[in-house]
Amino acid sequence: MRTCSKCQEAKPFDQFSKKLNGLQPNCKPCSREIHRAWNLANREKQCAKKREYYQNNKEAALEKQKQYYAEHRDQVLAYIEKWRAERPGYAASLYVKNAERQKALARAWRKENPDLRKVQETARRARTRRLPPWADRKAMAAVYAQAKELRAMGVDCHVDHVIPLKGKTVSGLHVHTNLQILLASENLKKGVKA
Ligand SMILES: [Zn+2]
Repeated sequence: MRTCSKCQEAKPFDQFSKKLNGLQPNCKPCSREIHRAWNLANREKQCAKKREYYQNNKEAALEKQKQYYAEHRDQVLAYIEKWRAERPGYAASLYVKNAERQKALARAWRKENPDLRKVQETARRARTRRLPPWADRKAMAAVYAQAKELRAMGVDCHVDHVIPLKGKTVSGLHVHTNLQILLASENLKKGVKA
């Protein structure tokens, strides 16, 4: 038995890690606790240090990794296979985690780009492929932004397609040259005519 210098409990020898000559003064649980507390206190510093080191040695580290892989390919693959086998569902959980992250990123993007979002939504709603890949989405977003500004000033208007996306004889494209800002009263007239 050996007394831990931290918790003062007498514990069997195997509860103490070895050091160069003899055993550590603290028992394993206490050592872990000390280590954890130290890590926590120094995490930010350590992270910054690691980041800086990585930035400065990125190419060398990558080269080293590549070389190691080339020389130990079978070992590396076996290790990955074993690691994966011991953690069933890990890939799936990673996928879910990533999907959630993607969703959050998309949400943030939509929140920051309401006018670009409007362009997309209108395209989706039309349920046609009327939005050609060459469409100038920024110019389109500008039209929606302008309409929004007008509405903010009290003008009752919205963005309309000059030639409807699903016309009876001819269908227009969802492009900025086919967009116009219509006053609510004008659109009513248009609706009656059609
Ligand atoms: Zn202890």
